[in-house]
Amino acid sequence: MTYKFNTKLIHGGFDSDPLTGAVNVPIYQVSTYKQEAVGKHKGYEYSRTGNPTRAVLEALIAELEGGVRGLGFASGLAALSAILMLFNAGEHLIISDDVYGGTFRLQDKVFKRFGIEATYVETSNPERVTAAIRPNTKALLVETPTNPLLKITDLAAMGRITKANGMLLIVDNTFMTPYWQRPLEHGADIVWHSATKYLGGHSDVVAGLAVVNDAELGQRLAFLQNAAGGVPGPQDSYLLIRGIKTLAVRMKEHEANARQIAEWLAGQPAVKKVYYPGFPSHPGHEIHKRQAGGFGGMISFDVGSGELADQLLRKVQLFTLAESLGAVESLIELPAKMTHASIPAEHRNALGVTDGLIRISVGIEDAGDLIADLAQAMGV
Ligand SMILES: *Cc1c(COP(=O)(O)O)cnc(C)c1O
Repeated sequence: MTYKFNTKLIHGGFDSDPLTGAVNVPIYQVSTYKQEAVGKHKGYEYSRTGNPTRAVLEALIAELEGGVRGLGFASGLAALSAILMLFNAGEHLIISDDVYGGTFRLQDKVFKRFGIEATYVETSNPERVTAAIRPNTKALLVETPTNPLLKITDLAAMGRITKANGMLLIVDNTFMTPYWQRPLEHGADIVWHSATKYLGGHSDVVAGLAVVNDAELGQRLAFLQNAAGGVPGPQDSYLLIRGIKTLAVRMKEHEANARQIAEWLAGQPAVKKVYYPGFPSHPGHEIHKRQAGGFGGMISFDVGSGELADQLLRKVQLFTLAESLGAVESLIELPAKMTHASIPAEHRNALGVTDGLIRISVGIEDAGDLIADLAQAMGV
């Protein structure tokens, strides 16, 4: 039987423990496994290579993204590290120009030293992507919506470009999760996540996940997962499975709250600009609606000056001033001084990441309380 997405969230990857009937996956807190004879075992030899709790998580995320194989990692960036290890010195990648800062840092400060080149382009414009392709270009890495400006990239258009040029399409699906967006259905070859964010959902675990649409590619990535060893422990794997069970109910609440707050912000004279893909005036609105079922819980807004932004961040009481996103509690931050501080000021301003730009990750508290908190912090 094939089940609908919300059923997969609860039952994917696991059908009660065969040994005890436990309805939750046991936390197999173990590093090694007894062998009956040399090489004769029950499928597990050593927990870097495979662990039964992690195996359930990996099967679950593969089902949710509609891929053939899922892989667990110790963090989102550990997942990306393994993915970038697929490439060789002398090969070239194209990357969205406003990807997550850690993605840029990993390529620019680490993999570049090993001879992997990258060009950063505005992937919301497919022509710029095509123009950046070289004979040695092996992959395109995109994130949609991006962070913090929530720019949209057309996944199907990217899929056509990569297919036609023998490249892999690699998508960071952290912001949407498979609940709203399943990039493999639009031509992606690899989807990866900071599972630290919405998938975990409770600010209690750092983890990463990757899913591929091809068994051979899955083998290569599993080899790298084991060879480099950036795997999640059984406890964290369990916490992620537990978090994922409520993904549907959480994502719906994040979205409903975000919409109300975005509309309220748009009506405030102190707010110069609101970045929210759910507004029909957002330049990527139509494309996003084609490839995703919802608009998520992230909003950025510009209050016009660093002083005003500082004041707001000092006065909020319910919103927590913190980096990260995607959890049940609402978070607020200043990208120019926090998550995106590593980007040089001129480049940042040119992108629109000004000193007055505030990013919020809308939690699942009462929307009226959240709006009241922003209102008192703004003094309105
Ligand atoms: C947080 C984040 C990452 C990095 O993931 P970690 O789990 O922190 O390593 C990657 N991409 C996006 C969009 C993120 O928000």
